Amino acid sequence: MTKPELKSAQKTKAGSLRAGSLPALSGLDLKEIQEKLKPLNLPAFRARQIHSWIYHKYVSGFDEMTDLPASLRDQLKESFQIPLLNLAHLQVSSDGTRKYLFSLADGQLVESVLMSFHDRKNLSACLSSQVGCAVGCTFCATGYLGFKRNLTKQEIVDQVMSIQRESGLRVGNIVYMGQGEPLLNVDEVVASIRAVIGSVGIGARHITVSTSGIIPGIERLAKEHLPLTLALSLHAPDPQTREKIVPITRKYPLEELIPALKDYAETSGRRVTIEYVLLAGVTDSAQQAKGLADMVRDIHCNVNLIPFNPIYDENGKSLYKRPTRAAQEQFKKIVERSGRTVTIRLERGTDIDAACGQLHNKFQEK
Ligand code: SAH
Ligand code: SF4
Repeated sequence: MTKPELKSAQKTKAGSLRAGSLPALSGLDLKEIQEKLKPLNLPAFRARQIHSWIYHKYVSGFDEMTDLPASLRDQLKESFQIPLLNLAHLQVSSDGTRKYLFSLADGQLVESVLMSFHDRKNLSACLSSQVGCAVGCTFCATGYLGFKRNLTKQEIVDQVMSIQRESGLRVGNIVYMGQGEPLLNVDEVVASIRAVIGSVGIGARHITVSTSGIIPGIERLAKEHLPLTLALSLHAPDPQTREKIVPITRKYPLEELIPALKDYAETSGRRVTIEYVLLAGVTDSAQQAKGLADMVRDIHCNVNLIPFNPIYDENGKSLYKRPTRAAQEQFKKIVERSGRTVTIRLERGTDIDAACGQLHNKFQEK
């Protein structure tokens, strides 16, 4: 195995990704670009050209738009920039996972991850929807950051564009599984999904939104009638355990959340995903496996077991333990009695802190 490569963006392509304070065009759809260009009185096809350069060629500046007259490029440079995010740091794992830390115009930091799976054709990008998170799950690094602010649609979409620009690779799947709770920022997240479909060109069937269980957000998403995949971070079938590790359970209890999820699966006709983090001695008992099997039996779903990705307290002590491989398999076997497909999540980029929030925390400490 090759050693994990640690790169600083400043040494690589940061120059071309560094953005100033002008309004950014990345993350906007064609109509919005037309709107921004209005004061320049350009023919209608110019907006289409610019939109195409941004979304199909991933350009970072107007000079790369070679079919625009030089005078127009100069004019555009005075009024706009393309990317919105600055690449602050990039880590590349030995398995090819690329973890990005982006800084926003106000200096806040967010993470995105590009994952490649050898058994799948498409690359997946994991996007953040907020800076920090208010939900405060006890096993999640982002939870310890607390909530800072929502990301805008443009900041969400520019994560995909910045990843494609930096890597030169085309993203095929999008998962809203980075920092933040997408359904507590549902307007901007839905707008970003529409832009990903319409401008980036990734179909709704290749998009997954993961939630800790925000019932009004699930109901709102259902009304959008988008054929995407909804993933529920269930993590415990019993209310006592779930209340401890996913505190929002007290606001949206399981007895209301599960019917809301079933409604979503029925009205959308889409199979949902149940995510379940395996914490040794906390969520991995045989009784909990049986409870989970009973719960998912009549939900139109697949189950994804996530072995805990270690996060550490200030003394360097891991907050939870990951169950052994044998214990994970044993848990899986019991859940499979439900008749549902059960998978154990493949680990990506564990050598580069690819669990959400980890790179952010490390960077802030420095
Ligand atoms: N806020 C949303 C989406 C972001 S978190 C949600 O909670 O669903 C994406 C997934 O990673 C969630 O299932 C979350 O529970 C899980 N996760 C967070 N920290 C983890 C860790 N340290 N180990 C394993 N999974 C983790
Ligand atoms: Fe927020 Fe999701 Fe982390 Fe919970 S797991 S704190 S909801 S980002």
